Amino acid sequence: MTRILVTGGAGFIGSHLCERLLAEGHEVLCVDNYFTGRRSSIHHLLDNPAFEAMRHDVTVPLYVEVDEIYNLACPASPIHYQFDPVQTTKTSVHGAINILGLAKRTRAKVFQASTSEVYGDPVERPQTETYWGNVNPIGVRACYDEGKRCAETLFFDYFRQHKVRIKVARIFNTYGPRMHPSDGRVVSNFIVQALKGEPITLFGDGRQTRSFCYVDDLLEGISRFMAAPDPITGPMNLGNPVEVTIRELAETVIAMTNASSRIVFKPLPSDDPRQRQPDIGFARDALGWHPAVSLADGLKPTIAYFEHILSAGQAAVAG
Ligand code: NAD
Ligand code: UDP
Ligand code: UDP
Repeated sequence: MTRILVTGGAGFIGSHLCERLLAEGHEVLCVDNYFTGRRSSIHHLLDNPAFEAMRHDVTVPLYVEVDEIYNLACPASPIHYQFDPVQTTKTSVHGAINILGLAKRTRAKVFQASTSEVYGDPVERPQTETYWGNVNPIGVRACYDEGKRCAETLFFDYFRQHKVRIKVARIFNTYGPRMHPSDGRVVSNFIVQALKGEPITLFGDGRQTRSFCYVDDLLEGISRFMAAPDPITGPMNLGNPVEVTIRELAETVIAMTNASSRIVFKPLPSDDPRQRQPDIGFARDALGWHPAVSLADGLKPTIAYFEHILSAGQAAVAG
């Protein structure tokens, strides 16, 4: 039995990952400070003797014995990572140092949830792993983008200097059930607004693009990456290469929910990237991986999930 630490395990992606690792027969230690994660997301796992949840902030050193680590701890939605930007940078940087120190001592293989945001507002399209990015180092998104970039630096220096076994994935916009309804990200915002018949808030002119990956596809990519031989360290793009404008996403959600909502235009937040599309050639070649779930097919269970929690009331999502 492999002992696996998942930091940020009570979050959206982390809770799905804990579930998958337990189903594969591993022992899982979930570490989370519950800043954006919820105990309700892992509540159903607590009776499993192979699962343990620990309240802990990754900016503080952690001494546990594990074989593998998935480092996901970090708020991912702009409204959350900008709420306390200093803490966001600390989470990425001090968190990476502690988790890498732990990996070094235990000789554990360690996965880092990096992000397409390391490319900033990219001037290349699609974005390949060799592109160095276009990031404003002092803007309101920098706490997230630069924090994650510095974490990548630390991962590659621990790899070169201390021979730590690393896997660095640059994850592109991912969505699915268990996103928080007030998470602030575009998929959850649009679906919740549509289901409530409220106006759909389109930022800017809606011509900016994103490429949306369904959470199950992402987990399959992460799993294959982690199982790949050690020389495959990444950085590796993991995402769905089908690019859509945010306006198209709004129209798709309105159509799929039969909503009466109208679109209202709001100012574009500063430094909002104009385009984002992964080149997944590396993941295809190295892992034989590519996403299998179309946006329409992934939105169906996601809409059903939000319908369920909205009808159950806010109590269902508290805690
Ligand atoms: P999320 O906000 O749902 O989950 C993040 C989790 O980390 C939460 O449970 C939160 O409480 C926890 N956390 C935050 N700060 C912490 C700290 N200091 N110590 C311990 N726990 C802490 O976000 P998510 O979408 O599940 O993202 C998970 C990871 O994947 C993040 O690192 C994020 O940057 C990365 N990522 C996500 C996406 C995406 O589209 N969802 C895209 C790129 C990268
Ligand atoms: N660390 C940790 N858990 C461990 C080992 C280390 O949290 O099991 C922390 C430790 O507190 C240190 C950081 O990881 O601050 C980096 O560890 P490293 O061994 O690289 O550095 P050093 O301890 O030599 O400063
Ligand atoms: N967005 C929007 N309306 C919303 C929330 C987001 O138009 O209610 C836009 C946002 O400006 C960005 C895109 O949707 O261009 C994706 O935003 P999100 O916060 O989900 O992710 P990120 O910008 O980090 O990719």
